[in-house]
Amino acid sequence: MKQLGFGTMRLPVAHGQVDLKETEKLFDRFLAAGFTYFDTAYGYHDYKSELAVREALVKRHPRESFLLADKMPVWLAKEPADLDRLFNEQLEKTGAGYFDYYLLHALGGKNLEAADAVDAWSFALKKKDEGLVKRVGFSFHDTPETLEKILSAHPEMEFVQLQINYADWESERVQSRRCYETARRHGKDVIIMEPVRGGSLAQLQPSLAAPFEAYAPDATLASWALRFCASLDGVIMVLSGMSDMAQVEDNIKTFSPLSALDQAERAVVEKVREALAQIPSIPCTRCNYCTETCPAEIPIPAILRALNDSRIYGDAYAAAQYASACKDKAQASACLGCEGCLFRCPQHIKITEHLREAASKFERGDD
Ligand code: SF4
Ligand code: SF4
Repeated sequence: MKQLGFGTMRLPVAHGQVDLKETEKLFDRFLAAGFTYFDTAYGYHDYKSELAVREALVKRHPRESFLLADKMPVWLAKEPADLDRLFNEQLEKTGAGYFDYYLLHALGGKNLEAADAVDAWSFALKKKDEGLVKRVGFSFHDTPETLEKILSAHPEMEFVQLQINYADWESERVQSRRCYETARRHGKDVIIMEPVRGGSLAQLQPSLAAPFEAYAPDATLASWALRFCASLDGVIMVLSGMSDMAQVEDNIKTFSPLSALDQAERAVVEKVREALAQIPSIPCTRCNYCTETCPAEIPIPAILRALNDSRIYGDAYAAAQYASACKDKAQASACLGCEGCLFRCPQHIKITEHLREAASKFERGDD
């Protein structure tokens, strides 16, 4: 099985809907190049990704010519019977008949509690016994300690899907390396999500990207990020949420065939990773204490994150993050200066100063 998987959370969009004609072209090209793995989920594309997969993939290609992964939205299951209802809905929406890989989605925190409360673990195994699922696992967003607990309690899980990329490899927030090592210690296959960190590692500022450019001028930034992930032992799949043909072609090239990073290349990646890690960032932990008190309902943590992103990935990428964070919400310029947030922030962040910076950086030219 080739190691590149097609993530369907960022399919091409036209007029606010998944562009099916364009999606068909991307899927067809991917399959024609010998790749077979597709990953969807109940909630992607405003609950329409599974339908797009049915139309662009399942209805148009023999079922045995591709592998399909889907995920149980455990947070929507209030009682065990909900699991059956959701699963049957997924089978109907995709038209797939069965899932090759089935995951309990985004475990950690409240979602883990939700999975335990309805015993989603036994449910997944039951579906495997019924032949409706080939392999069971879960995707994960929490600490290595929590992962250790899950894998000790549920050795029946066959694989784990983790957020891994070179930028998050040693980060305190994601802890890619430690999560990966925990999964491998338990002998689990690993599927990687966000290898290019939502596309951001394909758009590094020129000064940060310089070591890559100097070493291999023709290699794309995305190819470095994907090869870092695919070179790790035990990684059976690296998912990329591709949105256009240029990304599909670039990724196909990277994996045809995949060449694992050698020692010199690993040193280049490490150099870039260290440079990224040294960029000072606003130490927001996204605890949301500030938003609880803000009368202007400003999405403060998301705005601070956009500011952090602007220091690493440049203003164009960060401006898009800012626009998305403030969509249907107040912008930074709506701050009333009441200072309520300052008293609530355990990190003593100078929130109002940062909001002024964000307003001047991202709202210029707004109507
Ligand atoms: S100072 Fe601004 S951001 Fe802070 S609570 Fe008041 S209105 Fe909200
Ligand atoms: S209170 Fe401080 S640390 Fe918590 S989300 Fe707000 S800015 Fe971030």
